[in-house]
Amino acid sequence: MGEITTDRAVSAALYEEAKGYFPGGVSSPVRAFRSVDGPPLFMVKGAGPRIHDADGNSYLDFCCSYGPLILGHAHPAIVDSVAKTAANGLSFGAPSRQENELAKLIIENNQFVEKIRFVNSGTEAVMSAIRLARGATGRNKIVKFEGCYHGHVDSMLVKAGSGLVTLGTSTSAGIPEAYVNETIVVPLNDEAAIEKAVVDYKDDIACIVIEPIPANNGLLLQDLSFLKFLRTICDREGILLFFDEVISGFRVGFEGAAGLYGIHPDIVTYGKIIGGGMPVGAYGASAALMSNIAPDGPVYQAGTLSGNPVAMAAGAAQLTECLKPGFYENLEQKTKQFVGTILAHSQEKGYSFRMFSVGSIFWMAFSDLEAIRRSDQIDPQSMDLFKHMYGALLKRGIYLGPSGYEVGFVSHAHSEADLEKAATAFCESLDSVLGHA
Ligand SMILES: *Cc1c(COP(=O)(O)O)cnc(C)c1O
Repeated sequence: MGEITTDRAVSAALYEEAKGYFPGGVSSPVRAFRSVDGPPLFMVKGAGPRIHDADGNSYLDFCCSYGPLILGHAHPAIVDSVAKTAANGLSFGAPSRQENELAKLIIENNQFVEKIRFVNSGTEAVMSAIRLARGATGRNKIVKFEGCYHGHVDSMLVKAGSGLVTLGTSTSAGIPEAYVNETIVVPLNDEAAIEKAVVDYKDDIACIVIEPIPANNGLLLQDLSFLKFLRTICDREGILLFFDEVISGFRVGFEGAAGLYGIHPDIVTYGKIIGGGMPVGAYGASAALMSNIAPDGPVYQAGTLSGNPVAMAAGAAQLTECLKPGFYENLEQKTKQFVGTILAHSQEKGYSFRMFSVGSIFWMAFSDLEAIRRSDQIDPQSMDLFKHMYGALLKRGIYLGPSGYEVGFVSHAHSEADLEKAATAFCESLDSVLGHA
């Protein structure tokens, strides 16, 4: 695969203009390309596995809008469904049939959710689920893991202090200390830290929240025994187990990580894939737990555009495709082949490079470690190598999220031929970054 020109003059001009309108020129921080070189690319079109920028370059897209696009861009079933639904009105502020349809698809095919509430983003889903956990248990504290992301909820924008089990220190200005004092931060994959937290804060912990497949700070795959241990200790201590499956839900299987690992969480949140590219989030649980939510119960939560018919139609169209036989097996098989090709090349050359994957999620690490399960095992220095890798991939027509902490996604739209081409581009890029010849 030859190098393509990456003239970015139009993107650069649009970015200059955007900087006059938005903080950092963007609507979400990682989009600003601060961790890699050059202006962010302004996109004009997506079709299947490809995106096209404003300068006329096209790329095989492994960012996939950071996860939602499991069918690739502009899948005809989604586009048709959105257009037909929109023609009848964009929002009613009243119930609509489309909400039932999406809920039915989920509840009939997911043993972990008996009732569900739709919201407008993953952040909103997490915020609401935390309120449910506190409301249902009458407890205040939340246990969160260093290296997991749960959206920009005040109480979740925290990192650990020094020590095994600490109250959070906020990672953003504008968050009162009193809020973060309700969040306990512990390292991932560490049973002793959890044991200590439940002793230190006996009968005060409402829930333990985890990304069962942590995929927002690298891909920090947990030991299955650790996830099972969380279920056991929650049962023992009367704590709710909250799986934030905004990224893993409908990605590693229709039932997400809960289904993949066979662990029953008490509360689960979804986002990204659930909306088919439209802004949708959701939280779900047993019917008994969900009866705490207004108007049935005392935990208030509402939304003007929640269950929006157009967004629901997009989600239902996407999930209908995901339910087809062999859908997830095929995605996983393609991803394994793709990752395997790159890893074989890297091993042959003896590079300090790893690639981790689960289902159709993958992550590159410039490291020799056999496994990376905690955020402190990621070497910040290695991000410089990622930056060079990113430039080399872009030149070869491969688009990823512009940070070495972001994972990549293979979609249903990526053909085996696309993935072969992409694997060649990854191997060539590795040679250009790490090769000494
Ligand atoms: C993306 C993500 C969120 C936040 O979702 P938004 O739709 O960006 O608000 C929360 N939790 C996890 C695990 C995520 O991957």
